[in-house]
Amino acid sequence: METVNCLIIGGGPAGYTAAIYASRADLSPVVYEGIQPGGQLTTTTDIENYPGFENGISGQGLMDTMKAQAVRLGADIRTGAITEADLSKRPFKLVIDGEKEVYAQTLIIATGATAKYLGLPSEIKYRGLGVSACATCDGFFYRKKTVAVVGGGDTACEEATYLAGLCKKVYMIVRRDVLRASEAMQERVRNTENIEILWNCNTQEVLGDEYGVTGARLLRKDGEVFDIAVDGFFLAIGHHPNSELFNKWVAVDKEGYIVTDGKTSKTNVEGVFAAGDVQDPLYRQAITAAASGCRAALDAEKFLKMQ
Ligand code: NDP
Repeated sequence: METVNCLIIGGGPAGYTAAIYASRADLSPVVYEGIQPGGQLTTTTDIENYPGFENGISGQGLMDTMKAQAVRLGADIRTGAITEADLSKRPFKLVIDGEKEVYAQTLIIATGATAKYLGLPSEIKYRGLGVSACATCDGFFYRKKTVAVVGGGDTACEEATYLAGLCKKVYMIVRRDVLRASEAMQERVRNTENIEILWNCNTQEVLGDEYGVTGARLLRKDGEVFDIAVDGFFLAIGHHPNSELFNKWVAVDKEGYIVTDGKTSKTNVEGVFAAGDVQDPLYRQAITAAASGCRAALDAEKFLKMQ
């Protein structure tokens, strides 16, 4: 039976930063990176707003650097996903990939968030055949083609401008008559000639044939139903927190975000801390996730000292 002082779940900015701080505090942290090592940032393009990188850095590059720093300081970073958790008593029991059991004196949950889909049967049918929630992963396949991006937030604007650099034309399907995105991102969209915004539109169906997506059927608020021809259909309508494995013990809000105590990373379970997007419905930035990972490691250190 393996018992660790500090188990960190998640290989994104929150998890790696927690690992850096926990290593320096001699907590000998073990990190399980989950199914997407590096987290959501590995699916983004250049990051221009992470301090310390004057000319920006790629999402993958930032994550590789953070991970290397954590490893250099002594963190034990492992591949594997948590498939079961029992947080009813300490040490907490976690099952990795349905097989290995690890017991943890303290637990830092930094499992992030996952892209949302619209929930249409046709969207499921063509997932991987033209339907995607990651423009930077799949955009390459649509060079000089026409695609649609659903959503009006910063992610949708970022993905649309990224795709506009590769594709012949990009439609943005926006359900209201305004974008939710920041002014800077809106301006980028406005200044990109091959992006056309379809305002007040909801997708009724993704259209396709045996080779994949061929279009989308849209319903405009005025009642008009019309089809657009597209080769790719990208979702950028937000995320949901990956808290399902823990919400039997750990308090979550109505959207599933883990509730933490004030400015700390403490959950309602003593010895369990949460960091990053799984507990942050508001900011969801790499820098805020990293900062909350730091807080979680410091909180875990303090907790262990008091035992
Ligand atoms: P948001 O929640 O900000 O935006 C989601 C968008 O999708 C909204 O326009 C919303 O419409 C739309 N939407 C939601 N559900 C549906 C649906 N069922 N059908 C159609 N449209 C739908 O999510 P983001 O992922 O864009 O951003 C999350 C956070 O990350 C934000 O805080 C953002 O600022 C940040 N971010 C920052 C970046 C940066 O600084 N470079 C880059 C990317 C994200 P409606 O507006 O009508 O609700």
